[in-house]
Amino acid sequence: MNAIGVVTKEIDEAKGTKYHDNFIEFLKYYQANDLVGSTAQTDVKGDRKARPSQQEDPDLYVHVVKKTNKGIVVRGAKSHITMGPYVDEHLVLPTRSMTKEEGDWAVSFAIPADTDGVRIISHIVTPRQRIDLKAPYNIYGVADSVVVFDDVFVPWDRVFMCGEWEFAGRLALTFAGFHRHSYCGCKPAVTDIIMGATALVAEYSGVGNAPHIVDELTELMIIAELVYASGIAAAAKATKTSSGIYTPMFVYSNTGRYLAGTNIYHEYDILASIAGGLPSTIPTEEDWLNPETGPDLEKYFRRKPGISAEKLHRIYRFISDFSCSAIGGWAQYAGVHGGGSPVMEKIGIRSEYDLESKKQIVKYLAGIEDEE
Ligand SMILES: Cc1cc2nc3c(=O)[nH]c(=O)nc-3n(C[C@H](O)[C@H](O)[C@H](O)COP(=O)(O)OP(=O)(O)OC[C@H]3O[C@@H](n4cnc5c(N)ncnc54)[C@H](O)[C@@H]3O)c2cc1C
Repeated sequence: MNAIGVVTKEIDEAKGTKYHDNFIEFLKYYQANDLVGSTAQTDVKGDRKARPSQQEDPDLYVHVVKKTNKGIVVRGAKSHITMGPYVDEHLVLPTRSMTKEEGDWAVSFAIPADTDGVRIISHIVTPRQRIDLKAPYNIYGVADSVVVFDDVFVPWDRVFMCGEWEFAGRLALTFAGFHRHSYCGCKPAVTDIIMGATALVAEYSGVGNAPHIVDELTELMIIAELVYASGIAAAAKATKTSSGIYTPMFVYSNTGRYLAGTNIYHEYDILASIAGGLPSTIPTEEDWLNPETGPDLEKYFRRKPGISAEKLHRIYRFISDFSCSAIGGWAQYAGVHGGGSPVMEKIGIRSEYDLESKKQIVKYLAGIEDEE
């Protein structure tokens, strides 16, 4: 919403279009009805080395196939769309910059999820269901979707960009900046959970104060707080755009998101190394509840004196569900790629970074004078 708000205003200023009015009307409707929207940005993309216009099949990036005086018709598919089956509206925007020949792919719009021609193919992941050992973590799951636009009609008042190829990259990156900024808030919360689980399992095992464990926990603290600090810095250094909407500072959002993305497996590694092997081998809850096997699991599930077998079952089952399960694997991939793969953050940082000024500093320090 923020990205569309920023860029529709900029397109209107440059081109005399009315996209920002469309956006404002849509926003009012969205807020008045308390709707939920997806971000449908990531195209399926086909051959990664080929541009949208160079793909064997032009539908591999969502594009406009027809324009009428009532609206546009779009075709293509967006991949990995979080919350696909729950949303009221899909908010569609380009995934990359476009060239002059790629105006048909420079398209942004909002469309109700049950519009004719919209197909949502969902992938759902949930933690393991519990029988008796109910826990808040095991209540919720996630859903991602391939959202197919099979010649979908979008009325003009729902269109936010149509052909303004010069602004496709701006919209894609503005969204990326907001999303990577939000990662700087949500990813440290994931690290908090990894950190809490690591500390608790170490404490229950009687090794909470072991120097190598204290050291690893400190590393988790540093990762969490540096990512979070990047988010605060990005907000503090935000820029007010012509729409009135502030955009977080791009370099700080990207450095924070990059740090989070490149550390995610390292964080799970710390948890796995300190938890030991039990998250992968823990017998099922059925065995814990079974009168024949339960007493064995009660007697032999012992760590630090005073910690009950039930507490141990709960912490190990949690770590197993959190890190050693379908949803654990999902979260690790999400940590790398959600919001843009680390390589994309590097590209983003480089694109805005003032490297020249750093060379000037060293020229000064080294006493190097430019000829001119
Ligand atoms: C859990 C999860 C939730 C997500 N939710 C959403 C969502 O709600 N909405 C949304 O729009 N997107 C969403 N995404 C998509 C996410 O932004 C993408 O996964 C990410 O941008 C990477 O794109 P990709 O998966 O297509 O990987 P790919 O494009 O296949 O990239 C994989 C790797 O290939 C290489 N590569 C790719 N292209 C090039 C190139 N041109 N040149 C050189 N190397 C290249 C890079 O090394 C890159 O890291 C989600 C992703 C995940 C994992």
